[in-house]
Amino acid sequence: MTCFNDSIVEKTRRTVSKYRMIAPGERIAVAVSGGKDSLSLLKVLAELYLPRRNQVVAISVDEGVAGYRDEALQYARALADELGIEQVVVSYKELFGFSLDEALDWKEERTVSSCSFCGVFRRRAIDEAAVGVKASVVATAHNLDDYVQTFMMNLMHGDVARLGWLDPTYFDDSFPVRRVKPFMEIYEEEVALYAYQNGVPFQSVSCPYMHEGLRSEVRDYLNMMEANHPGIKNVLLRSGLDVISHYARASDKDSVPCSSCGKPSSNGLCNVCKMKAEIREHVNIQRSPRSAGGG
Ligand code: SF4
Repeated sequence: MTCFNDSIVEKTRRTVSKYRMIAPGERIAVAVSGGKDSLSLLKVLAELYLPRRNQVVAISVDEGVAGYRDEALQYARALADELGIEQVVVSYKELFGFSLDEALDWKEERTVSSCSFCGVFRRRAIDEAAVGVKASVVATAHNLDDYVQTFMMNLMHGDVARLGWLDPTYFDDSFPVRRVKPFMEIYEEEVALYAYQNGVPFQSVSCPYMHEGLRSEVRDYLNMMEANHPGIKNVLLRSGLDVISHYARASDKDSVPCSSCGKPSSNGLCNVCKMKAEIREHVNIQRSPRSAGGG
């Protein structure tokens, strides 16, 4: 173990402690996509919770993208096995009755981007998996760069109501799983270096639906600003946290149960059920015994 590795583990421990992300003895579901960030997070949390590894469980989502997710799931499985950590995989097909490939077959008819569309189901799948393994907290691998990029993008989209989702310990009162981001104070390049030093594999295939658009422009801009003004991303993180604290609870206030699935919604029909209804018009969705969104 090098000094650098120790510093990453220690920074993560401090972030978890500072924001009271994880209570003693609490069962933690780590969202592991199989990319370098989430594999690194699994490794760091396994080290932090070394004496009680059964407190940590890896949850992975198979969206159903041919030729893409298989490699990442293999990496996730291999690392979970190596660390002696339980791994659970849930799929869109099993939960919602369709794969992402099937749902996006009619994509030119939709108005939202593939990732925004996919993200709605991904969040629900992760929540369902976390509840299934009796975890009360989900840890995701968003790093400092992801965090400030998302903050900026929400502002640029005029989507201030969603700023609350960036709260370090975001939860919705009507759903019993908090979301925490133990890497939120660690730069992307530090996570990449940790992954490299620890032999964490880098996925060779990108999702064919990935379209970064505005995010890659925001990333380039922030990298340029950081090069010219070292520390500016960190200042933006602090400013963001201050702003976000005003939205974190406000965003929950009007939450009402979805009339179709009972999960939280802002207007009586949650986004998952809304999108499933839209997909139904185009795709022959299988009825699933584990349907996680209104049958
Ligand atoms: Fe879904 Fe976008 Fe990730 Fe592909 S890149 S799996 S579409 S969120």
